Amino acid sequence: MHEIPVAIGLGSNLTDRMRNLNFAIDRLRDHLHPLTVSPVFETLPELYTDQPPFLNACCIGYTVLTPRQLLSALQDAERIAGRTRSGPRFGPRELDLDLLLFGDQVIETPQLVVPHPRLRERAFVVVPLAEIAPAWEIPASRGDPSETVQEVLSRLDTTGVSLFAE
Ligand code: ADP
Ligand code: MG
Repeated sequence: MHEIPVAIGLGSNLTDRMRNLNFAIDRLRDHLHPLTVSPVFETLPELYTDQPPFLNACCIGYTVLTPRQLLSALQDAERIAGRTRSGPRFGPRELDLDLLLFGDQVIETPQLVVPHPRLRERAFVVVPLAEIAPAWEIPASRGDPSETVQEVLSRLDTTGVSLFAE
């Protein structure tokens, strides 16, 4: 079977945030081998600033799933964690799981865009990802050049993202 390295972004800002992240990490263990988990960061919300702060982390590992299969595993976990999808986009949620990177593949479908379209502008994603995969070369996509996670981090404003737990 063909194993591909993938990166997943995790976020939670409702109910027991650490429990929600740990739930997601346990689910990811079924699909990513070996699973590497970043430290957890606390992040002030960017849009809708009157919502609680997020906990954010990233995971990397190798998978045999297709991008579409992995996305639906992520969406299953979001649903089980209680996310209702009734609130505003970028609003509060028990669990948000984003497929950030799928090897060096570039995917553009209505349901799935990889590299994640907002990866390069989100310090709350790039800061944890740089802890576990600084040298990962993000493929050129949507007009952005190919560049490493560390290179993206170096031009982001990281105020508002602080270490929460190892
Ligand atoms: P965000 O994660 O940017 O805050 P949402 O989680 O509300 O936004 O967006 C979920 C929608 O984004 C889903 O309908 C899903 O099909 C779509 N989507 C597109 N690309 C991705 C990706 N790489 N990872 C996760 N969801 C994606
Ligand atoms: Mg999402």
